[in-house]
Amino acid sequence: MNLVLFGPPGAGKGTQSKILAEVRGLPQLSTGDMLRAAIAAGTPLGLASKALMDKGALVPDETVVGIIAERYDQPDCANGAVFDGFPRTIAQAEALDIMLAERGRKIDLVLELKVDDAALLARVESRIAAGGTLRADDNPETLKKRLEVYYKSTAPLLGYYGGQGKLKTLDGMAPIEAVTRQIAGILEGIKG
Ligand code: AMP
Repeated sequence: MNLVLFGPPGAGKGTQSKILAEVRGLPQLSTGDMLRAAIAAGTPLGLASKALMDKGALVPDETVVGIIAERYDQPDCANGAVFDGFPRTIAQAEALDIMLAERGRKIDLVLELKVDDAALLARVESRIAAGGTLRADDNPETLKKRLEVYYKSTAPLLGYYGGQGKLKTLDGMAPIEAVTRQIAGILEGIKG
């Protein structure tokens, strides 16, 4: 089964895809995590991506499509994967559909976590106040930019996947456990 966790930055995609991946025994493929690992390792790809990420812009489609294709061919993706933070543009979604079709696979479901912008800003501000595991792009200015990018480049995917009949929308404002339960309920009816 191939699932996409979809939603604006801070909606809880990472949290829910980790839980989902564990429950379903599928790997979680987070392009954000892969890019941060590339930065930490000092690879050319990491170096090229860092400035864009720090300012809340998207890295080029070819970059993320390339890292996803390479990762998806690892043996642990034999039964599918949970995509987290990918695709983020129509071009990426089209490339993903082609990549999966070439392997006799498809996206089964796209789970949208719906949240409101004011709540997202409040979440980031409370993460900052808590002084927790802060990311370089976790600050109110960058979040505003990431939200702009989300609405301009990523939100159009809702039409793309809605048109394919694959989109399910969930209340991302609900507590973590409640969102997890909603997802489990949706997946119950789906063969995997
Ligand atoms: P995330 O951890 O998913 O919020 O991603 C952090 C940052 O990595 C984003 O703000 C982008 O700069 C970059 N990034 C992650 N995934 C993608 C993607 N699918 N396409 C383009 N840029 C991405």
